[in-house]
Amino acid sequence: MLRSVILAASRNKWVERRVETTPISRGLVKRFVAGTTTADAVAATRALVDDGLLVTLDYLGEDTFNTAQAEHTRDEYFKLLTALNADGLTHAAEVSVKLTALGLLFDPEGAYLNAKAICDAAAEVGTTVTVDMEDHTVTDATLDIVNRLREDHPWAGAVLQAYLRRTEGDCKEFAGPGSRVRLCKGAYKEPESVAYQARLDVDRSYVRCINALMNGQGTPMLATHDPRLIEIAKDRAKWFDRDKDSFEFQMLYGIRPAEQKKLAAEGHKVRVYIPYGDEWYGYLMRRLAERPANMAFFLRGVASKK
Ligand SMILES: Cc1cc2nc3c(=O)[nH]c(=O)nc-3n(C[C@H](O)[C@H](O)[C@H](O)COP(=O)(O)OP(=O)(O)OC[C@H]3O[C@@H](n4cnc5c(N)ncnc54)[C@H](O)[C@@H]3O)c2cc1C
Repeated sequence: MLRSVILAASRNKWVERRVETTPISRGLVKRFVAGTTTADAVAATRALVDDGLLVTLDYLGEDTFNTAQAEHTRDEYFKLLTALNADGLTHAAEVSVKLTALGLLFDPEGAYLNAKAICDAAAEVGTTVTVDMEDHTVTDATLDIVNRLREDHPWAGAVLQAYLRRTEGDCKEFAGPGSRVRLCKGAYKEPESVAYQARLDVDRSYVRCINALMNGQGTPMLATHDPRLIEIAKDRAKWFDRDKDSFEFQMLYGIRPAEQKKLAAEGHKVRVYIPYGDEWYGYLMRRLAERPANMAFFLRGVASKK
């Protein structure tokens, strides 16, 4: 119930304005978002890479409704890739893009071209791109574009969400040689017709998807903070005879940082997803929805400011 309310608020402009102007937001944003500038993003990347972690960077922005905004987002990625290259970080840092921030909702072909330009720029500096997955109304359009990107850049990564009923099938389809598939539980509010609603059903689906990806020929990128699923993934890696180099664990910036370092110390590849930029509202609300404790922390902060 609380999750549904927060996720509904994540799309509400009135709530957005209020949250953005509340001082306590700043503390919470700092925990989950690396900053607003390219320099902030590169500094956060450097710190994690020095700790033995890998990184994927997301310039925050979604639901873009005009060409200038979409091109601005694309250009921010160019700037970021140039800065990562100048700092010698592209061996360990890639980027994640949201197609709606590149124009998917009003110009799908333009979104593809923007994403392709980012992939071309990434290839030039020796790194990769993963295409984030958004709500189920854009799943097919997103996967179609990932398939087109893969024609030129076979490493273009897809994200699949275990809460969608279709995803076990998508995992089998996308797990071919050279593929990179990030598996997450899914962060949006979705109807029962397309998505499992009970946590247990989502977790069971996640395990079936781990099996499909580990049994495939690509690189599974297991994006979860869930300790049980992490243990199951380790177990399945042995079962499918995969060495530690052939898959990744991925977690979000600011969530379970000690576990991130522990897994890396065990010899696993661990990639941290770093969001940065001004448009942090939707991202922050999805993180709050995942954990009532985060919401309680936020509300306590708001109350104490009065
Ligand atoms: C690298 C990465 C990329 C992602 N990309 C996408 C994407 O493209 N599309 C999409 O829909 N979703 C994406 N997600 C979000 C994902 O779908 C989940 O919403 C999110 O990861 C929480 O699910 P969980 O697997 O960690 O399990 P949960 O059951 O939510 O959490 C398991 C445990 O992890 C810890 N934890 C989880 N979330 C938080 C939090 N916010 N604050 C503090 N502790 C927490 C808690 O200890 C919790 O008990 C991504 C996640 C990661 C890690």
